[in-house]
Amino acid sequence: MRAYLCVLGRLDVVKKSANKASARCPAHEDHKASLSVSRADQFDGVVLHCHVGCKLDDLLAKLKLTEADLFDNPRDIQTRLRRCRRLPVHR
Ligand SMILES: [Zn+2]
Repeated sequence: MRAYLCVLGRLDVVKKSANKASARCPAHEDHKASLSVSRADQFDGVVLHCHVGCKLDDLLAKLKLTEADLFDNPRDIQTRLRRCRRLPVHR
């Protein structure tokens, strides 16, 4: 939950619920809510997805965040990534 709120706090949020939000993508120019932000409970983190196709690295750079900020407990990242089939990394 911490990571989700942290990410949303940096975005221009258009629509928001407890587990999912839409926001303007900081990595490309448009006025639509192209970015979806979802809470991923299986690894206590956040998945960012730009519908236009911006890379996660670009999103993080614009948001001034690192991959660790996408997890509630950064210390456990490696364990969680190993356990999780769907990584929050679009590369
Ligand atoms: Zn984008």
